[in-house]
Amino acid sequence: MNITDLSPEALSEFPSYDDHEHVRRFVLNDEVVAYIAVHNSNLGPSLGGCRFKPYTDEKEAINDVLRLSRGMTYKNAVAGLPLGGGKAVIIGEPKVHKTAELMQAMGEAVESFEGLYITAEDSGTNEEDMVNISQNTQFVTGLPPEKMEGSTYGELGGNPSPLTALGCYEGIKAAIEFRYKGEKSIPDLSFAVQGVGAVGFEICKLLSQDNPKITICDINDENIQAAKDAIPSLEVVDVHDIYGVDCDIFVPCAMGGVLNDNTIELLKCDIVAGMANNQLLSEHHDQMLHSKNILYVPDYVINSGGVICVGYEFFRNSGYNPQDFNIERGAMVSHVERIGKIVYEILDRAAQEGRPTGETADNIAEEKFLKGVALNDNEEEENSSQNSTKLVQ
Ligand code: NAD
Repeated sequence: MNITDLSPEALSEFPSYDDHEHVRRFVLNDEVVAYIAVHNSNLGPSLGGCRFKPYTDEKEAINDVLRLSRGMTYKNAVAGLPLGGGKAVIIGEPKVHKTAELMQAMGEAVESFEGLYITAEDSGTNEEDMVNISQNTQFVTGLPPEKMEGSTYGELGGNPSPLTALGCYEGIKAAIEFRYKGEKSIPDLSFAVQGVGAVGFEICKLLSQDNPKITICDINDENIQAAKDAIPSLEVVDVHDIYGVDCDIFVPCAMGGVLNDNTIELLKCDIVAGMANNQLLSEHHDQMLHSKNILYVPDYVINSGGVICVGYEFFRNSGYNPQDFNIERGAMVSHVERIGKIVYEILDRAAQEGRPTGETADNIAEEKFLKGVALNDNEEEENSSQNSTKLVQ
């Protein structure tokens, strides 16, 4: 396989370049090129998914892998994981170009980092692809539960969506507590959920335990029907009308870029708290929400349940565990539930400093990964600082 390291000079022309540690180009076969970027590994080996997408050209793919790997550094740091940020992109149409051999070659590409990069599923890749990647590297997570060693079937591994939703549920409760100071709770409030796919459906199930008013939308009628069958009280609106729904909490669970100049003007909610990645179209939309007194819970904080799950799975399979986490399901679920506490701390600090919440979360992440400290409370931080340089052997 042809492998090339991109130099800082070559990368400096890309808007998303942020002094990344490594960016490597791989020719996987005659037709398909991939990139892997390691943004920052101060906290540990860099974990981030492998995206398979028909980018228009290599420049677009490079900019994306730079942006996404940086995002993983922030997400893993705030989630209190001893992991840095990395990402992989494969340029191609999955339905046309994806083969078992190609994914095995991707395993070789991952292996070239000797443990500094750990891959997982992302859009365009699935559990089966991770199994193919695992033929050539052990630095892969998000494998089917039956591939887990030394554990009860299904204890770790498998579809993270229910736990991603659980983390969001805890984050929503923390935002409600912060905003309404104990005067309102879920039954008193109304929700608008955009997208009822894997995570959107799960959050509807969790919220509906308390019977609040929930309005949903989705471009996929089958997904709407499945949600209505499970929770008949759901109200449905057209996808274009979801932003203007008179609700207390808007829960984006479909796609990125949904908080922008047009949509923020339409919002009638007090809180935005959902799991879609990259909700803010641009950085200034963080400030725009702040100015409108809409409490925005940063997406990468509230949706980190998924990466906590694949992280624990990796810790179990690799033996890498510098912070001596208890690597079993109960501890993993508790870690996911701590997202509520993290959300509250971010909202509180943003309010005290009079700053937007997204900017505040970024500062908290930077304080952690620039120091190389991953955990949230002081005692754990003391333990971790001496351990955080231990990398996977
Ligand atoms: P999914 O594909 O299962 O669900 C997305 C849903 O949104 C689908 O039902 C789709 O029809 C719907 N949708 C698409 N465009 C829409 C539109 N314009 N209006 C309304 N609905 C629309 O995906 P998912 O796994 O539920 O992920 C949803 C979001 O959450 C993504 O941004 C993803 O990156 C993020 N996320 C998911 C996880 C996870 O564990 N699955 C973890 C972290 C972040």
